[in-house]
Order: sequence, then C-alpha cells, then structure tokens
Amino acid sequence: MKFTYYPLLAAATIATLSALTACNDAKTATAAENAASATAIAVDSASTATITTAGNATAADISTGSPATIPASKRADAAAILARPQVPILCYHQIRDWRAKDSKGAKDYIVPVEQFKAQIKMLADSGYHSILPDQLFAYLTTGAPLPSKPIMLTFDDTDLDQFTVARPTLDKYGYKAVYFVMTVSLGRPNYMTKAQVKQLSDEGNVIGSHTWDHHNVKKYQGQDWVTQIEKPTKQLEEITGKKINYFAYPFGLWNPEAFPELKKRGMDAAFVLAEKRDQQDPLFTIRRIIASGYWSPRTLHNSIVQSF
Ligand SMILES: [Zn+2]
Repeated sequence: MKFTYYPLLAAATIATLSALTACNDAKTATAAENAASATAIAVDSASTATITTAGNATAADISTGSPATIPASKRADAAAILARPQVPILCYHQIRDWRAKDSKGAKDYIVPVEQFKAQIKMLADSGYHSILPDQLFAYLTTGAPLPSKPIMLTFDDTDLDQFTVARPTLDKYGYKAVYFVMTVSLGRPNYMTKAQVKQLSDEGNVIGSHTWDHHNVKKYQGQDWVTQIEKPTKQLEEITGKKINYFAYPFGLWNPEAFPELKKRGMDAAFVLAEKRDQQDPLFTIRRIIASGYWSPRTLHNSIVQSF
C-alpha cells in the first residue's frame, strides 16, 4: 500500500530531501511489511508455557545486567531461546492527531494522542510492567526472571512527539522505553534533538541504533555498514555516554548476512517486526508488533495476546 508523506515535513529544505526520500520509502515499505506480517502473526506464537516471573517484583527488583555480564558458555542455544514464551513488544512511530492529508495506510503509524494515552493506560490497568532490552536478553539467554506481565515499548525514527507526548505519558505509569534513533534526523524540525535523546537516556530509557538514514539493511555493501551502522552507533554513544548494543532494522527488513556485521559493531540483539524469527539466530530477529493508530485499547490487548 502506498501513501503520501506526512505534511509535517512539507517545509523541509533541499538539504533534508535525501533523508525525506529515505523516510518516505520507510513508511511505504513498513506499511507493506505490516500488511504482510499481519498474516504471520500466528506463525511464530509462543508455546502455552508462561514466562518465568518473580511474583509481583517491579522492574527495579529484577536483574538489569548487560549482555557483557553473561558469558557465552552460560547462554542458551537457539532452540532453547525459541522455546521460551515471547515477551510482547510494541513498536510506535508518530504520536499525534490525524490530519486530513494522512492516508489510510499512514494511520497505522500515527497514533492519535488520546488513543495513545488510552493504550498505555490499558497496559497499566492490566498490570503490565515495562522491561528493557538487557532484561529481555537475560531472560532469553539464561531464563532470568522478569516482572509479572512484562512488555517492551519501543519507538522508532526519532519523531519529536515521542519526547513531548509519549515520554510524559509513560512517566505517569513509571514505564521506561526503547528509542531507536535514526541519526540523520537529529535536530531537524519535528525530530528530537541530541539533548532530548540524552535526556531520555539519562532518565533510564534505552537508546538503540536505527541506522543513519533508514536504508534497507538487505541492500548494504562494503562501506554502507560503516555509514549506516558503525558511525551512527558511535554518535549515539557519544550523545548518551553509554554503550549502544541494540538495533532495529529499518522497515523490519533483515537477512542472515546482516547478523555478523551487526555483531562486529557491538550489537547484542536486533529487532524486527511481526514475521517469523530466524531459527539459527533468534536474538537478531526479536519480534515486535506495530501498535496501530486504529487500535482501541481492547484491540491492542487482543493483538498482544494473539501475537506473542
Ligand atoms: Zn524506522
């Protein structure tokens, strides 16, 4: 499905055009991806076993050690990781009210403000606890316990409303999130600044890498790995003062050739969308679902239950 780009970018200067083109491709491809992945939702659903939890422990009580603290010899193999029940992970893009020019397809990626607040309130009312990637990694590789009803909230593409709308909403419920930043956009109108990204990091959220300008990982050759992964990741490390070791594929598109390239550049895990995980390397194809702007809290809840 194809749709026009968001009007918020209409005033962009020539200098931003290459990024806008990339972004336009991004939204178009993600729409197609999502449509395709909708049919795959049930394919990779976890077994009926329940996630090991530590009673009513809060996120603060659970181990938050980084993957560096877990030696390779202590990590489960791919089959064991695939056998564990999946933790639901939501993927958001823009959080703003729909405009007349927003196409039907775009509205999956634009969650109106009140809809977003209602979705997050539903999670809190349902007893969900937000977890972060280190906790997920420890759970998947060692079976470390998680808080009860764990969920991960992720935000892609650096949109400013993630800072101005999502952040205060999540704060209300004590939720932390993962922000996958596309560095070309930093400081541009309607995108977050470096200072805002640092603030999110300082406040206990995790900043992840989402390439320089959102090109499809499957098409990288040679120097592209430096431009799209290595340099942007280093820039995010300079901004946050922390190691960046989680990655989200633009459009959710990946191939196994990307895994060693990402590992070489410090990644411990990578996130896709709703399709089936790689059977050899599930940590580099961790599934997420896009929380659609069309979804009421009830629909979101049903999707969480059905997809993971
Ligand atoms: Zn993206």
